[in-house]
Amino acid sequence: MALVAIPFNKPFIAGKELYYIAEAVTFGNIAGDGHFTKSCSRFFEERFRIPKVLMTPSCTAALEMAALLCDFEPGDEVIVPSYTFVSTVSAFVREGAKPVFVDIRPDTLNIDESQIEQAITEKTRAIVPVHYAGVGCEMDRIMEIAERHNLLVIEDAAQGVNASYKGRALGSIGHLGSFSFHETKNYICGEGGALCINDERFIERAEILRDKGTNRQRFFRGEVDKYTWVDVGSSYVPSEICSAFLYGQLELLDTIAERRRQIYASYRDQLAPLADAGLLKLPHIPEECRCNYHMFYILLPTREVRDCLMDGLRAEGITAVFHYIPLHSSPMGVRLETHRTQLPQTDDLSGRLLRLPLFYSIQDQEIEHVVHTIGDLLNAEPVVDEMPSLLAHDNA
Ligand SMILES: *Cc1c(COP(=O)(O)O)cnc(C)c1O
Repeated sequence: MALVAIPFNKPFIAGKELYYIAEAVTFGNIAGDGHFTKSCSRFFEERFRIPKVLMTPSCTAALEMAALLCDFEPGDEVIVPSYTFVSTVSAFVREGAKPVFVDIRPDTLNIDESQIEQAITEKTRAIVPVHYAGVGCEMDRIMEIAERHNLLVIEDAAQGVNASYKGRALGSIGHLGSFSFHETKNYICGEGGALCINDERFIERAEILRDKGTNRQRFFRGEVDKYTWVDVGSSYVPSEICSAFLYGQLELLDTIAERRRQIYASYRDQLAPLADAGLLKLPHIPEECRCNYHMFYILLPTREVRDCLMDGLRAEGITAVFHYIPLHSSPMGVRLETHRTQLPQTDDLSGRLLRLPLFYSIQDQEIEHVVHTIGDLLNAEPVVDEMPSLLAHDNA
């Protein structure tokens, strides 16, 4: 029987988050672009060597800004993985671009760079690599392809904050990049994000789009004597309250990172015997990638085993979850895609993956409990009573 339930994720306070929120109020500015929002931008610009970082209310908002900056024309195409969060693709579809889905690599579940070139047509405008689980995509190859075909690269680094590829921070490599500080990510503020601008020609327009299509930022810098409406735009500025909370976490970036590394290592070490016995597969981190340990997932031999294990863990109070329903097989994806290709790795791996509880405050004995329960469930005889979902799938 479960003693204490172990959730999949739990928001956390690591340091001065709440104090900084109070401070923002006493500073007299809790709308946008005050002291804490600027401190967060500066932190990322300096630490990750990014020319300009604009804080946003979410990663989705940052991706929408990136899509606006692409200035698509009708019929333009964007190369994306299907194995990703909705916003990666939705942000571009909103601007009239057509998604062209490319399969993923079985080792990292990142977009398979070797299949990108065959997806390029004369309508292709951009590639959107997603750094799944905080493990970098093969960016050298992707940037080289993009350069040769004159394409923009927008990194969806929602899960990749404080991870790197060949020594370069994820989000700092493409023309544009995006971060998320949603409560399920490594550094959180409830809902939050950032747009990373690595190609400086986008900076001025990005500032305008972010501030309702006005040139208010230029006004603040004294470059114009009044501010007015100059372009399309929206409200893509986060509240100081969120930025204050986030800054409290950024001050402890290394502490939070180290704890996640330990949790990941515990899972990996303790699950190794089950992997050696062929009962599951552990995640892979290529040598050129420094991971931020955003996620710990395991791959089971079949979808039935995965679903059965997930149900078994839930019965013990442990919330382990699958991840994306591939977008090409979602109702919207089916409606959008015209030149359909097979995505066998995406279809296969998405059905066999299970994510384990991983959050800053998870206790060592909770990790042990998760691992032991997995071991018990995988080694158990599949008795019908204990494994109703297996039966249900057999009959389906
Ligand atoms: C979380 C996530 C997003 C969306 O982030 P929000 O901040 O919630 O908008 C986008 N892409 C990926 C890959 C994500 O994991």
